[in-house]
Amino acid sequence: MKLLLHVCCGPCTVYPLKKLREADITVSGYFYNPNIHPYREFRRRLNSLQDFAKETQFNLEVDSKYGLTDYLRQVVFHEQERCKICYAMRLEKTAEQASLSGADAFSTTLLYSKYQNHRAIITIGESMAKKYGVEFYYEDFRTGWQEGIDESIAMDLYRQPYCGCIYSEQERYDKKLQKKLRKERKQQS
Ligand code: SF4
Repeated sequence: MKLLLHVCCGPCTVYPLKKLREADITVSGYFYNPNIHPYREFRRRLNSLQDFAKETQFNLEVDSKYGLTDYLRQVVFHEQERCKICYAMRLEKTAEQASLSGADAFSTTLLYSKYQNHRAIITIGESMAKKYGVEFYYEDFRTGWQEGIDESIAMDLYRQPYCGCIYSEQERYDKKLQKKLRKERKQQS
């Protein structure tokens, strides 16, 4: 199977890539993340991912356009729903790319993160699969959460301190908001 894997950063790619390769799937990566701000953080994550790709002979396609404006145009006035919008932006592009490149399926490293809305990612992935006529490959990569962390530390990959967007950067410092989000995530998992 030829699979296009949407990748958000190096550390989140380590475990899913390992699992997919073990399953004999031919994996290519696709970096498209207009949600990562500010620009220096975007570059830092991308540079680290590219170093990782080189080291692991991981074929990686990169959309290096900094997407702050595109992202904000989609989420402003919909901040409460922003993660779903953000998933849809990224998975739509990946599904389209997978279809154009003749891949059998697409997936995402977002399925590795314990901090994302796992169910929403599946729903959106499946709906993009229908739209672009290419399978959404699902696997619960969260099972390798600690393994991925340990490996990324051992490889000295840059580990980001917040999810990506400027809203999540703000939440990093807002204790009350952090508490509320933890509660919501517990309900969603
Ligand atoms: S918190 Fe993360 S998933 Fe949610 S909108 Fe921001 S970058 Fe996207």
